Amino acid sequence: MNLILLGAPGAGKGTQAELLVKQLSIPAISTGNMLREAMANGTELGKKAKQYMDEGSLVPDELILGIVADRVAQPDCRNGFILDGVPRTLAQAEALEAKGIQIDHVLSIEVDDKDIEARMTGRRVCAKCGTSYHVVANPPRVEGVCDQCGGELIIRKDDKPETVRHRLEVYHASTEVLKDFYSKLGRLRTINGSQSIQGANADILKAIGAKV
Ligand code: ADP
Ligand code: ADP
Ligand code: ZN
Repeated sequence: MNLILLGAPGAGKGTQAELLVKQLSIPAISTGNMLREAMANGTELGKKAKQYMDEGSLVPDELILGIVADRVAQPDCRNGFILDGVPRTLAQAEALEAKGIQIDHVLSIEVDDKDIEARMTGRRVCAKCGTSYHVVANPPRVEGVCDQCGGELIIRKDDKPETVRHRLEVYHASTEVLKDFYSKLGRLRTINGSQSIQGANADILKAIGAKV
C-alpha cells in the first residue's frame, strides 16, 4: 500500500503518518524531516536546502526527487510506504508517475487556514527523530522530551507566524493543484483534518479500506 499525505503546513500529515506507520507496518518518508536532518548534519543537500526552508519556500524539485527515489528503493519500502509532504508540486507528482512509483491513495487532510496558526504556535518537534507534538492537543508524556526517542523538543524555526503565512501561500499556489491531479486519476480521498487526531485517523483508515 503506497500512500501520499497531502495538506497545508500544520494539517496533521506528520501526526497521522506516525499513527499509520504503527497501524500498517510500513515506513513514513518525510521530505521535511530528511531535509532537516541533512541541514543538521551539514551535508551538501542540507546546505542547498537551508535558505529555502528558512524562508518557507519550496526546495527545488530536482533535489527532492533525488532523495525520494533513493528512499523508496530501500528494502523496507517493499510492502509500501507513506509519503509525508511529497509530492508538493505538479512536477514532483508527474515525476513520481514517470518513475513508475505507484500510488494507491492520496489523502488530502483539510484544515482551514485560520485554524493553522494556532496549531503551529503550539507545535513542538523532536530535534532527533522529528516526531511532532502539540502543547495542548498532543503533549508528550514528559514536557520537552520526545516519547519515542528521549530527544529534546524544539520549536521549528519556520513555524513563526510570518513564515507560516508564506508557507500557506505556497501551499495554495503550488501544492493544492495536486488535488485535481489525483482526483482525475481516481486516487484522491478527502479527510476532515479539523476534528480530533483520533477522528482523522479513523477516517483515513476507512478511506483506504484498512482494518486494524
Ligand atoms: P510542513 O508540512 O509543516 O509544511 P515539512 O516538514 O513538510 O513541513 O516541510 C518543511 C519545509 O521543507 C518546506 O517549507 C520546504 O521548504 C521543504 N520541503 C519539504 N518537502 C518538500 C517538497 N516535497 N518539495 C519542496 N520543498 C519541500
Ligand atoms: P504537518 O506535518 O501537516 O505540518 P503536524 O502533524 O506536525 O502537521 O501537526 C501540526 C501541529 O498540529 C502539531 O503540533 C500537531 O501536534 C497538531 N495537530 C495535528 N493534528 C491535530 C488535530 N487533529 N487536532 C489538533 N492538533 C493537531
Ligand atoms: Zn524523538
